[in-house]
Amino acid sequence: MNTQTAFFHDEKCLWHSTAGGFALIAPVGGWVQPPAGAGLAESPESKRRMVSLMQVSGLAGKVDFRSAPMATEEDLLRIHPQSYLERFKALSDAGGGELGDFAPFGPGSYEIAKLSAGMALHAVDSVLAGRNRNAYAMSRPPGHHCLAEMAMGFCLLANIPIAIEAARQRQGVQRVAVLDWDVHHGNGTQSIFYGRNDVLTISMHQEGCFPPGYSGADDRGAGEGLGFNINVPLLPGGGHDAYAYAMERIVIPAIDRFRPELIIVASGFDANGVDPLARMLLHSDSYRMLTQQAMAMADRHCEGKLVVVHEGGYAEAAVPFCGHAVVETLAAESLGVEDPFLELFQAWQPNPRFAAFQRGLIDEMVSLHGL
Ligand code: ZN
Repeated sequence: MNTQTAFFHDEKCLWHSTAGGFALIAPVGGWVQPPAGAGLAESPESKRRMVSLMQVSGLAGKVDFRSAPMATEEDLLRIHPQSYLERFKALSDAGGGELGDFAPFGPGSYEIAKLSAGMALHAVDSVLAGRNRNAYAMSRPPGHHCLAEMAMGFCLLANIPIAIEAARQRQGVQRVAVLDWDVHHGNGTQSIFYGRNDVLTISMHQEGCFPPGYSGADDRGAGEGLGFNINVPLLPGGGHDAYAYAMERIVIPAIDRFRPELIIVASGFDANGVDPLARMLLHSDSYRMLTQQAMAMADRHCEGKLVVVHEGGYAEAAVPFCGHAVVETLAAESLGVEDPFLELFQAWQPNPRFAAFQRGLIDEMVSLHGL
């Protein structure tokens, strides 16, 4: 086993239900796994298939593959108010429901969400303690839309903020950069750290997608946090070049200027070319590039300390190849898995006039951030 990369995974995270209900005639929850195909776009399938591909290719055997304990109540309370946690637990115990905006859950999801946050927390812990150079947390439910006091967009607990504040408490880490390349805006992470200058939050997202209509280019933080929040809204239909140019012109210079002690990526695979919940055109080589760039920044600033936390990604067939590319890159392994979508998605890239227009919009954002 190669200990460069830890991969945190727990089947229990895949038993979180966005539908509740019954499996055959038994109520879902406890020992009863939710039925296949139940619930919303946010289903276990894309994650399960990513892990399956890692097992079939042999990649799972090349990483430090393990589970982690749940985040504790104390961990959660650094981010979420007691009242929110109490309402969440009560509803979860009663069979599930809805606590916010588009984030339904089933029985037992409170404990599963704590486990999901625990994956991110222990991934960070493992990297900061030097047990692994980098880590991937297969967290589910995801976290980047969750506000301190409200669930949102399939996200029930703020996994990354919980992990950051735990690391601050336990390991005294100061400056953390969060790079969110999920195709949707990382609004929860942004809102939790909006007034803070010790966490740099950067979100690259499809303009106007989710939260619906949101762009965010001018939202740069407030008070002491002014200048420590950066949004890079990208036009629908953008692909590899748009992300590469945004990294080159904005994300990399901003993170280099911030000099983080740890980099965390909120990694959604929903910017791939066939995702049902977005309209971007990335492919597995794009995710490979983004991961290489994140690793290079981590090498420059923090001895390679990089944690990647799973967020969205809903195209069951395509997500595994994007995720496999990320984990392979983190672990510096090459298993020879051919991505059957790669050539097609590469052929779909926007024409040069579109790319030039998108580059111009990114150039306009550069001066806003003094880069
Ligand atoms: Zn997303």
